Amino acid sequence: MQTEKIEINGDQIVTPDHPIIPFIQGDGIGPEIWQAAQTVFDAAVKSAYHGTRKVEWLPLLAGEVAYKQTGEWLPKETLTKLDQYLVGIKGPLTTPIGEGHRSINVTLRQKLDLYACFRPVTYFDGAPSPVVHPERVNIDVFRENTEDIYAGIDADVGTDEAEQIKKLLENNGQLTKVRFPDTAAFAIKPISIDGSNRIVAAAIEHALSHDRHTLTLVHKGNIMKKTEGSFKKWGYELAEKKYGDRVFTMNQYADIEQNHGKNAAETALADARATGKLIVNDVITDNFFQQALLHPENFEVVATMNLNGDYISDALAAQVGGIGIAPGANINYQTGHAIFEATHGTAPQFAGQNKMNPTSIILSGAMMFDYIGWGEVASVIKAAISEAIKTQHVTEDFATMESAEILSTSEFGEYVAKLI
Ligand code: NAD
Repeated sequence: MQTEKIEINGDQIVTPDHPIIPFIQGDGIGPEIWQAAQTVFDAAVKSAYHGTRKVEWLPLLAGEVAYKQTGEWLPKETLTKLDQYLVGIKGPLTTPIGEGHRSINVTLRQKLDLYACFRPVTYFDGAPSPVVHPERVNIDVFRENTEDIYAGIDADVGTDEAEQIKKLLENNGQLTKVRFPDTAAFAIKPISIDGSNRIVAAAIEHALSHDRHTLTLVHKGNIMKKTEGSFKKWGYELAEKKYGDRVFTMNQYADIEQNHGKNAAETALADARATGKLIVNDVITDNFFQQALLHPENFEVVATMNLNGDYISDALAAQVGGIGIAPGANINYQTGHAIFEATHGTAPQFAGQNKMNPTSIILSGAMMFDYIGWGEVASVIKAAISEAIKTQHVTEDFATMESAEILSTSEFGEYVAKLI
C-alpha cells in the first residue's frame, strides 16, 4: 500500500487514497479518548470505502509524554511533521505551569499560523441541556486565533515592561486614564486589518458554501472603538468589497435607511433575502450572549476576535450538552494546514478511569474528514454519534438522561463503531 501526504493545490485540499495523518494522543484523558476515536474513524473509513481508502495514522509526541522522553513539551520533530503532512488531529495537552511557559496549543496555532478556530455548535437529539430549546442552536463559530489576547503581550505589575508601557502612556497624556497606575499590570491586544480580514473571509466563505443565511460579526466596539469597533468596520468593508454580489450588509441597510428611509432599507433587505444573499450583521458581545440564550435561531455563522470567541464557543457548547461533545479545528485556509482537536482540556483527575466522553475528538475527526474531502466518512460518524445519543447509549457526563445506559469511554467507541 502506497501511503502519501495530503497536499494543497491552489485552494483545493488533495487527499490520496492512503493518506498519512499525524495524531497527538494528548495528556490526561487524551490516550483513552483517542483510542475510542481511532476505533470509530477506522470503522467509518472502512464502511464508506470498503478498503479502497485507508488512513495511515502517524503518532507524534507532545505534552507530558514528550517532556518525559525528550525534555521538550513540543519537540521540533512534531512541529516539522505537522507542517509536512498538512492535516493532523490531537487530544488535549497539559499547559506546563511555570515562568516562561506558553500553552502548547497556543504555540502550535501560532507556529503553523492556524488563524481560524472553527467550532460548529449543533444539538444532537436527546442530549441533556440546561435550556428548553437546545435544538435551536446551530451556530458555526469562527474565532480569530493569532492576535488579540493570544498575542500574549502581558506585563506584570512593577516589571520593566509595565514601566515602559506606563512611560508610553505618560508621554501620550493617557496615564491619567489609569485609575491605579502604581499597582497596574498591563496587556496590549493587537487587532489588525489583515488578521480581521482573513478570519471574516473564512467565515463568509464557509457561510456561502454551506448555504447559511446570516453571518454575525461579534465585537465590543462600543467600548474598544479602535480595535473591536474596527473589526466590525473592516468586516463590513471586506464583505461589500470582496463578496458584494453575494452578500447584503446591515451597513448597506443603514446607508439606504439614511438616504432613502426605512421602507427602502426594508425592501432592499427583503430583496437580498429573496435572492439568497448572505445577510451580514453585527452585534455587541454582551448582547450576543443574551440573544444566543433567548433566540439562538437568529445566529448561523459568527465571526469574532480571540477572547470573545473563547467565551462564546464554550457558552454555546454548554447549551447543547457541554464540552465533552464540542468539536473544533484550527485552520489556515491559505496554506491548508489544519489541526483538529477536542475542545476540552486533559481532565487530569479522571485520567486512566476510562469514563470520559470521547465525542468531542470523534466529532473533530468528522470535521477533519469533511475538510480532506472524505464527506462520506464524516456523515457516517455524525449519524452514528447521533444514534448513540438518541438511544441513550452514553458516557457518564450524560447520566442525567432518563434511561441512560452508561458506557465507559472504550465501550462507547466500540458501540459507535458498531453502529457504523
Ligand atoms: P478540562 O476541560 O480538562 O476539565 C474541566 C472539566 O470538564 C472536567 O473536570 C470534566 O468535568 C469536564 N470534561 C472535560 N473533558 C471532558 C470529557 N471528554 N467528557 C466529559 N467531561 C469532560 O479543563 P481544566 O481542568 O481547566 O484543564 C486541565 C488541563 O487541560 C490544564 O492543563 C489546561 O491547560 C489543559 N487544557 C488544554 C486544552 C487543549 O489542549 N485544547 C484546552 C483546555 C485546557
